[in-house]
Parts: sequence; C-alpha cells; structure tokens
Amino acid sequence: MKIMVAIKRVVDYAVKIRVKPDKSGVETQNVKMSMNPFCEIALEEALRIKESGMASEVVAVSMGPAQCVDTLRTGLAMGADRGIHVEATGALFPLSVAKLLRALVEVEKPGLLILGKQAIDDDCNQTGQMIAGLLNWPQGTFASKVVLDKEKHEVMVDREIDGGLETLCLDLPAVITTDLRLNQPRYATLPNIMKAKSKVIKKFTPQDLNVEIKSDMEVVQVTEPPKRKAGVIVSSVDELVDKLKNEAHVI
Ligand code: AMP
Repeated sequence: MKIMVAIKRVVDYAVKIRVKPDKSGVETQNVKMSMNPFCEIALEEALRIKESGMASEVVAVSMGPAQCVDTLRTGLAMGADRGIHVEATGALFPLSVAKLLRALVEVEKPGLLILGKQAIDDDCNQTGQMIAGLLNWPQGTFASKVVLDKEKHEVMVDREIDGGLETLCLDLPAVITTDLRLNQPRYATLPNIMKAKSKVIKKFTPQDLNVEIKSDMEVVQVTEPPKRKAGVIVSSVDELVDKLKNEAHVI
C-alpha cells in the first residue's frame, strides 16, 4: 500500500509574523520558511506505518512556488521515498489544494492520504475535510492515534474532541489529518540529508492535472492583533483587590 502525505511550506513557527504594509497578507520575503509542523507529524506517521511493514511507499506532495522543493527535500531526508511538486504561483486556497490532491490521488492511487490538521500560516483546517469530500473517502480528522489493519483493510483512528477522544474505524482508502499529540517527528540525519539529494521529485503544473486554480474567495485584509496595554505592578494584595473591585469591576 502506498501512503501519500501532503506537506506545506509555511513561515517557520519560531518566526515573529509581520503583516505586509498594504495588509494584503503576511511578509514571506527574507523570512525563514519550514515544513508546517502538523505536516511533519503527518509524514512521521506515514514513515512509522511503512517501517512497521504495513506500507510499501511514502510519497510526499507539496503545492506552491519553486521553493517547495526545499520542503520536499526535508521530507525526503526524513524518509519519504519520492516527492511530487505541483508548481503554482499565487494564492492557493484549500479547495484548490484539495482539487490538485484529488488529481494526484487519481494518478498515484494511494491507500491512505495523510495531511496536517491545519497549516499554521492560514489556520484554515479545511483541506483534509475537502479532499475527503471530493474523493468520497472516509475521514479521521485530528488524529491522536492511528492503527492500521492491513488484513481487514481498515484503520482505527482516535480523534481529539472536546473533553475526550472519539475512536473511528475507517475503511481504506481513507483520509487522516494529524493532531499535535500523534507523534514526535524525527530529525533528518546528515546521511539521510545526503541520500535525499538523489531521490526523485516529479514536477506537475495545475494544467498538467487539469485543475483550474481559481477561487471564489478573496482575502480582504490581514491585520495584527491590537497591542496589549502595559500592565501595572501593585505594591500590595489590598491594592490589587481594590483595583480588581473598583477599576476592573471583576470582583
Ligand atoms: P489547511 O486546510 O490550509 O489548514 O491545511 C491543512 C493541511 O492541508 C496541511 O497541513 C497540509 O497537509 C495540506 N496542505 C494545505 N496546503 C498545502 C499545500 N500548498 N501543499 C501541500 N499540502 C498542503
């Protein structure tokens, strides 16, 4: 069985986000970019399934500008067997990504498609649900545990839901989106980084896949959160109680 993993190139989680002066989006020029953390978890899970002998190949897919190849190389260094880059410039909203993924699924025919639960740049949390809908495959979103049963051709998924866990049994092929506690992604070792240089990354354009990139959605503006007012240091508990009672009116 083949596993396809969607990995997105995003602004590194440790970078302090700056909004562009024209408020059209966040600044990505001269900013460190990395693999979306939830996608690292998705890839790690796919690699563990392969290492347990339940899958034969892990294919990493990324859509976006030419630099996505760097993200794919990181995925190949972690252990993915092959990469696919769909080169697309301009904004890619989740529905377009889902349509591109559907076209790739038709080419690659994976038994399992694993995505991050959300990309930390746009926080959409939509692509996994959309691709499951487009393919009419069952979906296990926010997965914190994944157990594959190759014989029965199904996968058990624990989902993190408000106040607990939900366990689903999905027939394969299926879509899984990964939550934070599913696993701890590995670091790429130097020998694997070297090996990754010779692994294959196939390139497609949206036209090759017969997908028209258009959107009926437009980002109107992106703004920073309002600045917090400076705090005050109080000299005693009595003063604190007085302020909470008479200024903040919370007690
Ligand atoms: P989102 O719905 O945008 O929050 O993204 C959820 C997940 O969809 C990500 O964690 C990725 O697994 C996948 N995804 C979204 N956009 C892309 C992209 N441009 N390339 C590859 N995977 C993507």
